[in-house]
Amino acid sequence: MKTSALTTGATARAWIGLGANLGARDAALRQAVRAIAALPGTQVLHVSSLYRSAPVDAGGPDYLNAVAEIATPLDAHALLAALQAIEQGAGRERPYRNAPRTLDLDILLYGNQCIATPQLTVPHPRMHERAFVLLPLAELAPEQVSPAALQAVSGQTIDLHHGPAWLNAT
Ligand code: AMP
Repeated sequence: MKTSALTTGATARAWIGLGANLGARDAALRQAVRAIAALPGTQVLHVSSLYRSAPVDAGGPDYLNAVAEIATPLDAHALLAALQAIEQGAGRERPYRNAPRTLDLDILLYGNQCIATPQLTVPHPRMHERAFVLLPLAELAPEQVSPAALQAVSGQTIDLHHGPAWLNAT
């Protein structure tokens, strides 16, 4: 992938939401973290525990979700393109909205930037509605998740599936 023209020259801190509800879900998430770490100049700084929750506004198997904190020189749109390529590599298909998925990667936060373009909205527009985003994000960046936000999603059923060591499982 040619990305050299798409970097900002600075390194940004970003938080990525990872989810999967088809196939070997935890293996797909581990592979996604490895693929993110292999992006040009990019470091995975922290990865949350793994959570399990029922799909929101959709059917299908339960999701496994986590959040990764990264440092990257890619600008936000280049990062989105790179994450979409990783989704494609995991066999992601988009037959209809909210369809079950082998891998879903969302940019939750990109530094403190607010972005609104046809391709990208940051902060992610639905992150504050979702326990499966806020709980793992609060593990890594508690200052980004207010107690009121956590309270607002406290009625959603979500289980801690595995602590942070999930990343090292084979
Ligand atoms: P999804 O079905 O959840 O994978 O949605 C992907 C679509 O959302 C793509 O067309 C993206 O361009 C768009 N999108 C808008 N904002 C974001 C974001 N913050 N992170 C990931 N995708 C985004």
